[in-house]
Amino acid sequence: MDNCIFCKIVNGDSPASIIFEDQTCVVFMDIQPVNTGHALVIPKIHAASLSELDPEIGGHLFQAAQRTAQAIRRSQMRCEGINLFLADGEAAGQDVFHVHLHVIPRYSGDGFGFNFSDRYWQKPSRDELYTSAKIIIAGFVEQQPAVEALWRAYTASLPEGVRPPDSYDVWSFGDTEKMADELGQLVQAGIKTATCSLLWEYEVEGDEDMPKGGDVSVITDGQGAPLCVIETVEVEVTPFGQVDEAFAYDEGEGDRSLEYWRSAHWKFFTRMCGSIGREPVETMPLVCERFRVVFPN
Ligand code: AMP
Ligand code: ZN
Repeated sequence: MDNCIFCKIVNGDSPASIIFEDQTCVVFMDIQPVNTGHALVIPKIHAASLSELDPEIGGHLFQAAQRTAQAIRRSQMRCEGINLFLADGEAAGQDVFHVHLHVIPRYSGDGFGFNFSDRYWQKPSRDELYTSAKIIIAGFVEQQPAVEALWRAYTASLPEGVRPPDSYDVWSFGDTEKMADELGQLVQAGIKTATCSLLWEYEVEGDEDMPKGGDVSVITDGQGAPLCVIETVEVEVTPFGQVDEAFAYDEGEGDRSLEYWRSAHWKFFTRMCGSIGREPVETMPLVCERFRVVFPN
């Protein structure tokens, strides 16, 4: 990259005090050290962010940082501890858009530290941690080869000239592994063609995640194994108390009655409300979604 200061250092076009170099990375002194001895580990190949960096190279950078930390500790440099730090993205404090891992020698009273918001001091509940975990696990699942393979099989099955969707979500039903397995099987069997979620959760997570007609999703079981691809047909926001028999039937759970639906979903939404610090009420708005299985079909 022509304009990248770290690429210039790699190419020898800009001065740097290099302390280690191999085929993959360079380690040099930071021009504005937090403490004396502050080093930066960078890949020789330009990558602006972690998402652009080959994870193999990322692993190599960590190894180099570990060796650098060891070298600093064994040297005469003042060092009682080490921080490894990497800023990925502007919001995270990244100033130079060529991936770099900071190796910062630390000693007590060095004046460096982290700032915490007030939120830090209020520990989240177990339910909130579970919800955070579930959201992030979806990100891992998207990287799984089996999910990608099912997605490719689906797009290959589309008639000629039909453009596959640009993106898809990967998710499982419910909030436990057992529910994900059971409800996923009902979808595969064609019994379950509707689902609902709490509108309040999207208000917490961001409206862009709200389902809409035409959305395509890979559904997984509780272990993240892909089951099928579904397409959202319609989405309507309805208060809990106004969900009708037809919707309860399409949800396909238990005896498919409204009574069963109300009892099972009251329990479920009580848990969901708990995770966002709200109380369940008859008027709570639900995002009611009808869908159809588009693969395998
Ligand atoms: P970050 O804020 O994590 O992107 O860190 C960028 C780091 O690169 C800062 O600590 C800067 O002091 C350091 N830096 C910027 N330009 C140079 C340079 N030419 N040589 C060495 N370090 C640099
Ligand atoms: Zn670069």
